[in-house]
Amino acid sequence: MDILIVGSGGREHAIAWAAAKSPNADKIYCAPGNAGIAEFAECVDIGAMEFDKLVAFAKEKEIGLTIIGMDDPLVGGVVDAFEAEGLRVFGPRKNAAIIEGSKAFSKDLMKKYKIPTASYENFTDPEQAMTYLETVKMPIVLKADGLALGKGVLICETLEEAKAGVKTLMLDKQFGDAGNEIVIEEFMTGREVSVLAFCDGKTIRCMTSAQDHKRAKDGDQGLNTGGMGTFSPSPFYTKEVEEFCEKYIYQPTMDAMASEGRPFTGILFTGLMLTEDGPKVLEYNARFGDPEAQVVLPRMKNDMIEVMEACIDGKLSDVTLEFEENAAVCVVLASDGYPEKYEKGFEIRGLDKFKGQDGYYVFHAGTKFDGDKIVTNGGRVLGVVAKGDDLKGARSNAYKATEWIDFENKYKRNDIGKAIDEA
Ligand code: AMP
Repeated sequence: MDILIVGSGGREHAIAWAAAKSPNADKIYCAPGNAGIAEFAECVDIGAMEFDKLVAFAKEKEIGLTIIGMDDPLVGGVVDAFEAEGLRVFGPRKNAAIIEGSKAFSKDLMKKYKIPTASYENFTDPEQAMTYLETVKMPIVLKADGLALGKGVLICETLEEAKAGVKTLMLDKQFGDAGNEIVIEEFMTGREVSVLAFCDGKTIRCMTSAQDHKRAKDGDQGLNTGGMGTFSPSPFYTKEVEEFCEKYIYQPTMDAMASEGRPFTGILFTGLMLTEDGPKVLEYNARFGDPEAQVVLPRMKNDMIEVMEACIDGKLSDVTLEFEENAAVCVVLASDGYPEKYEKGFEIRGLDKFKGQDGYYVFHAGTKFDGDKIVTNGGRVLGVVAKGDDLKGARSNAYKATEWIDFENKYKRNDIGKAIDEA
């Protein structure tokens, strides 16, 4: 069958790569795609939020499966739009994608179903939020309720900072309507782990774990970004932690969503903090993480398309996920200045060095064609991924491969996977 992938980042490149390996896949389209995805998919000039056009395209081309990579269209109801026309689509419906689209919803869900998470209060009134802040311990965490490109979380060390944060989110509306409501949450400490899982509304099957690096600079300094690198698996996600999460977090979340009349089908991403009191949920996302997908999918042995089909058909309980017994590291090559101001349009050289190199991948995030050349076209430009027998080997391979690529203003973190040494 022909497949349509919706999105344009490194995550969608990894999804398109995994789809292209499937014996079930004939032609692959990607809307809107990027210069890397164009290598094995036909890129279609339709935006991820243009639901009518996407649906019309899928009907015209008789697409057998559409995969939604991004959060915005999911939260906006793209799956419902496809299903209304009888089209097969992989992702949660709008009423389930709310688990990512509203942090207040997800916190209330966890409280109601006793899923471990930080204690919190939700506020729609800035004055009440300010008054509440007078009563809590610092540091404290403020979160915009809605989608904010992963940047709507403020960690505040002092009362003054926290009050200024409420102003930024709720009064100045830095993230627009996403700040109409905020969550004020207890600050937790511990290792962070991301766990992605396939879900069919009833059953949940977790993939191998990963760890993201959200801050722009080495030593976890600088601003929050979409993610500067990842490694998989996390050495801190032990069998014992996994068993705890299976019992008290993953299946209870599936059951909670089903009980609420919002069965979740698609990818559930659970961001965990491994605290002294046990694992707690930091956040849920309703799709693959970016760049987590880039280290998890290359290690998956299953045919991704087959697993997605099982999710849509409610037959995930028949599936066993299998991963290679190795490790992978992704180092993001960004434009210097990201996530603030940066220049783009610079030629990228060295991409062909990855051809025929087993265990090395370069996933495009912000790139485009300029004539025959491929040029930088975003803050995060490329995800350089390498496998290795273990995490240290994968890390050294990935950093070696970052040297194969050259473009003006190339920037990367030099400490992706530093935590591996502390394991
Ligand atoms: P989120 O989008 O909710 O995952 O938050 C983004 C990042 O902020 C997380 O990956 C954590 O590093 C940090 N964070 C979020 N919530 C908390 C919390 N309650 N305590 C400490 N750090 C947090």
